[in-house]
Amino acid sequence: MSLRVYNYLSRQEEEFTPLHPGFVGMYVCGPTVYGDAHIGHAKVYITFDVVHRYLEYLGYKVRYVQNITDVGHLVGDGDVGEDKIGKQARLERVEPMEVVESYTRNYFRDMDLLNVIRPDISPRASGHVPEQIELAEILIEKGHAYEANGNVYFSVPSWPAYGKLSRRKVDELEEGARLEVSAEKRDPRDFAVWRAAQPDHLMQWRSPWGQGFPGWHAECTVMARKYLGLPFDIHGGGLENIFPHNESEVAQSEAAYDGEFARYWLLNNMVTVDGVKMGKSLGNALTIQNVVRGDHPRLSQGYSPLALRFFILNSHYRQNSDFTDEGLKSAARGHERLLGTVSLVRQKLLKAEAESKAEVDIEFEKVIEQHKTRFFEAMDNDFNTPQALAALFDFNRAVNTLINGDQPVSAGTLKAIDETYRTLGGDILGLIPTDLSGGEGLSTPGLEEDLIRILVDLRTAARKNKDFATSDAIRNQLAQIGVILEDRPDGTAWKVSR
Ligand SMILES: [Zn+2]
Repeated sequence: MSLRVYNYLSRQEEEFTPLHPGFVGMYVCGPTVYGDAHIGHAKVYITFDVVHRYLEYLGYKVRYVQNITDVGHLVGDGDVGEDKIGKQARLERVEPMEVVESYTRNYFRDMDLLNVIRPDISPRASGHVPEQIELAEILIEKGHAYEANGNVYFSVPSWPAYGKLSRRKVDELEEGARLEVSAEKRDPRDFAVWRAAQPDHLMQWRSPWGQGFPGWHAECTVMARKYLGLPFDIHGGGLENIFPHNESEVAQSEAAYDGEFARYWLLNNMVTVDGVKMGKSLGNALTIQNVVRGDHPRLSQGYSPLALRFFILNSHYRQNSDFTDEGLKSAARGHERLLGTVSLVRQKLLKAEAESKAEVDIEFEKVIEQHKTRFFEAMDNDFNTPQALAALFDFNRAVNTLINGDQPVSAGTLKAIDETYRTLGGDILGLIPTDLSGGEGLSTPGLEEDLIRILVDLRTAARKNKDFATSDAIRNQLAQIGVILEDRPDGTAWKVSR
């Protein structure tokens, strides 16, 4: 079987064939860095991380470009309102580039936690202003854009293909655009390629039309072209940005540079929290850090980043992921079960390598092959990760039955099992760390506190039994690692002092 993907351009599943055999160019709309990454970001970037990993597993050399939006994205996603970065800089009383720098670092920190492999290129919009000015100039030259009071607008009526990706009809477009009617736009659907800046605007550049800054959609048009060439294979992102952002990216590129922009459009669905769309004003916006630390009223505890990854991969990327505390809990349990078996297999393998034969049990080899086939069929079917996970868990059950049986398992069989886990669960899904011995994948937030609490309870029990030798030993050994106990009338408190 070969890889099939759902292409939003054709609204159909299609066989994936890259333009240049062996190579794949992929562009994914990156974050606007004015706040910490939330679980919606986790869904997009884990989705395309798995796409990236699977394409590499299939032998493609992938160039993965994901931009950082640091200018031009206005509050409300349209042509009016304050720049999101500029607004945050004003609120935090810092330079816009300080906002950009600090949230970009946080973004990569969180993506690293989620085991998301970093893109090959992470270009910033502010670093590509000349290219965006050039785009506006070409569009004006070709009659697809016009200048008005220092703004440059794309002329939607001049480009009949506008709407081909989002399939919005002209009437619907007008309906939405009417909200932001501007006297200087020749048509309410027209959108800004370049915007004039007021003197107090924090980020602005000189252009043929005076001081200004680029429109939000222009950056993706020029950066995709610059680093991948036209056309390129895959454009990814969140479905909520199909209009106006993605639609306008396509229109600008195809009107300016003649010819196709992206060949396959892969878009992921949104996330909800307890069945409700996520929003800051609704009080249900969960950041990745909230989930890891468990410091949000909707969560009863913190979850390991890989449990969050598991939760997201447990629904198909084109489906909605509904976050609930219960759902995360069951994902965490499932993930722990998987890692528990992997860890047992690896321990047994270490022992068996010294004593038993290397050949693989023929019967179990068949079991491995059956599950692998199911796994790859699911992945080839538009990255169906829930089905791939189901195959991996059935495999896990078969492994448990085997290693808990009466018969010794040969080193060869254990090795074949471990390799299956490493490829399917590790390389492709990114859920099984290469090193299970205390690597990031197994670190559970709150675990250390729980362990200290257990020791404190043991010491309290010892004191009740007048076993002062044990109680003092616990107190002294904890003190040696910097945990200081303090006995109070209401119980024992502790603090860390290192
Ligand atoms: Zn974009």
